[in-house]
Amino acid sequence: MLEIRGLSKSFGGVKATDDVSLDFADGSLSAVIGPNGAGKSTFFNLITGALKPDAGKILLDGIDLAGRSPPDIVRCGIGRAFQVASIFPSLTVQETMLAAVCVDQGRAGVLYRRFPLAETRDRAEHAMELLGLADRRGRTAATLSHGDQKLLDIALALVLDPKVLLLDEPTAGMGTEERWRMIDKIRELWEKQKITVVFIEHDMDIVFKIAPSIVVLCYGRILASGPPDEIRRNAAVIEAYLGTEYHTEAAI
Ligand code: ADP
Ligand code: MG
Repeated sequence: MLEIRGLSKSFGGVKATDDVSLDFADGSLSAVIGPNGAGKSTFFNLITGALKPDAGKILLDGIDLAGRSPPDIVRCGIGRAFQVASIFPSLTVQETMLAAVCVDQGRAGVLYRRFPLAETRDRAEHAMELLGLADRRGRTAATLSHGDQKLLDIALALVLDPKVLLLDEPTAGMGTEERWRMIDKIRELWEKQKITVVFIEHDMDIVFKIAPSIVVLCYGRILASGPPDEIRRNAAVIEAYLGTEYHTEAAI
């Protein structure tokens, strides 16, 4: 269980995260939405240790991770993929996965990547299969489509076997079709891996269709959180963010 308690972070006078408390149950799938500048990415950056909180707790299974270093937090079981895929352009898909597993196993030497142990190979293989990248294993990361680069970035996080996976706008910069393919993959890996997944997404069709639980941020604060039907009907959310379109749809 991931429990956020009173999490706060300011940049100068801007309260990017303002006293946020939330629970993410084990194996849940949640979307974080909110207008530009609402503090969505900051919220993730605090959880992953990229930013240090001014106040608050980040409890994973009761252990407070607030203020720890990013590698430490990854080791504790929180993985993330970025809004812009962070990959190694000249490595192939398979080399990327093998390198990630080797590092996790403390086998950093290049020989391990060239002649991987069976256990290393199996873990890399599993992550490639899960994200549907196995048939592109020989392609260098730079030559992959934008969508496949994002999948590779997610595979990198997944190979470390996280309890919680945070995805910052996994469908950013994608066309409609590619977007739905990405979302189907995310849903599939959530169902198969039974991990906790939290994703930031601005396409409301996607959010309302696949997220059983939604958190709405606005000016760094939680405006609302709950299941899609509740969020659609929430007066404050409609006023601040959704407009009337989704409300009308829900009323039909
Ligand atoms: P979102 O991801 O919801 O669009 P962000 O978390 O990126 O929002 O930003 C929230 C607020 O914090 C914005 O006002 C943004 O300008 C500010 N902010 C975010 N990161 C920094 C930073 N590193 N330095 C200064 N201001 C920042
Ligand atoms: Mg953002």
